[in-house]
Amino acid sequence: VDMLARDGGRAAVEGLRAADLRHYLHPFTDSRALAAEGGTRIITRAHGPYIWDAEGRKTLDAMAGLWCVNVGYGRQELAAAAHEQMLELPYYNSFFKTTTPPTVRLAERLAALTPEGLNHVFFADSGSEANDTIVRMVRHYWALEGQPERRVIISREYAYHGSTMVAASLSGSHMHSQGGLPLPDFDHIAPPYWYGRGRDMDPAAFGRSAAQALEAKILELGAGRVAAFIGEPIQGSGGMIIPPDTYWPEIQRICREYDILLIVDEVITGFGRTGRWFASEHYDLKADLMSLAKGLSSGYIPISAVMVGDRVAHTLIEKGGEFFHGFTYSGHPVACAVALENLRIIEAEDLVGNAAHTGIYLQGRLQELADHPLVGEVRGIGLLGAIELVQDKERGEFFSPQGEVGTRCRDHCFQNGLVMRAVRDTMIISPPLIFTPAHVDELMEKARLALDLTARDLA
Ligand code: PMP
Repeated sequence: VDMLARDGGRAAVEGLRAADLRHYLHPFTDSRALAAEGGTRIITRAHGPYIWDAEGRKTLDAMAGLWCVNVGYGRQELAAAAHEQMLELPYYNSFFKTTTPPTVRLAERLAALTPEGLNHVFFADSGSEANDTIVRMVRHYWALEGQPERRVIISREYAYHGSTMVAASLSGSHMHSQGGLPLPDFDHIAPPYWYGRGRDMDPAAFGRSAAQALEAKILELGAGRVAAFIGEPIQGSGGMIIPPDTYWPEIQRICREYDILLIVDEVITGFGRTGRWFASEHYDLKADLMSLAKGLSSGYIPISAVMVGDRVAHTLIEKGGEFFHGFTYSGHPVACAVALENLRIIEAEDLVGNAAHTGIYLQGRLQELADHPLVGEVRGIGLLGAIELVQDKERGEFFSPQGEVGTRCRDHCFQNGLVMRAVRDTMIISPPLIFTPAHVDELMEKARLALDLTARDLA
């Protein structure tokens, strides 16, 4: 029985929902529409890959929250790690020639876990802050190197790097319509979205040509003005865009040729999501800087990290003096203790291996949906999956306007005990890494039902 139901039943739940509408401005939410639809669903508890709402309904969370609860819900060990650290030392900062044991341990652990050459860490509290930190650090680096004109960061359409002014500027134009964005010196190229934009070409040729858009942009701006290129190895909230294998080698060649720093945003793809510790391993990416968040603590506590490669770290340390940047909670001891315990669990339970193995099963079963009349393409890697809903299956024509059918399908999922997310009309799957084949079967059954109900609505 749900806690709220137990402590006062329906009236308590309705009271909470009314207060939510009165006082709480939700992120990425149309508050008026939310009110018109009767308010929010109140999530009260969770265990493993399941969440429960105040009405007691159980839902399979195939999004791991917001792509973050890698070890699944209800981990006593993480609560214990936070509890012990809070009693021992709840807070101290790293500003005053000071540090705390979990902070150092986590920095050391991340240097060992991440790809070769990323040996220094700067801590922050969210993916957005990590990316803000990177932009300041990169510009500071070039100034120290005597090239202060190198300020432009090139990113991509459909990118999502966060919601602060800088992180939203890094993100695609869908993030620029409010607040006077992008800030100066942020530029964008097209994404390597073969299904959406490149089907008249063979994928390998499309991948190369999408990467060469970077070279064209560099030549347009002048290489002397470009500081860095940033990309998610696989674009997550832009629609689970997996680039053709030809894409990243060509991007890396171009970055090297023009001496441009490569920033890899592994906020979603890090910590096992794709069946390797980092998606960079699939593509042999040699990043100069890397942003990490989400799976670092499995979402149990806010923490993010910037991995800084030897090249940038050397200049910052040898020539930099003081870097005027840092947050009250940079390297927070409780967050670091929880992250350390989370990494221990991922390793001890071989959740990266499970993401690879169960991932193969998931990808196989997802392919079964390819015969559904609404489905244009399914794709995925590890425990990431995407289902493209289309108006015309044969010609692969998208719905117009995009987004309505995806939202409808998502609502059917919710009503039938499944969380999938819709990006435009692409349905996204990113479950906890503890997923078993039985969970995949449950997911597939509910996903097919939601697709059938969506198709029925359209008929
Ligand atoms: N980068 C990527 C790739 C993300 O997916 C996100 C969040 N979804 C962010 C950065 C921003 O992270 P946060 O919401 O913690 O600021």
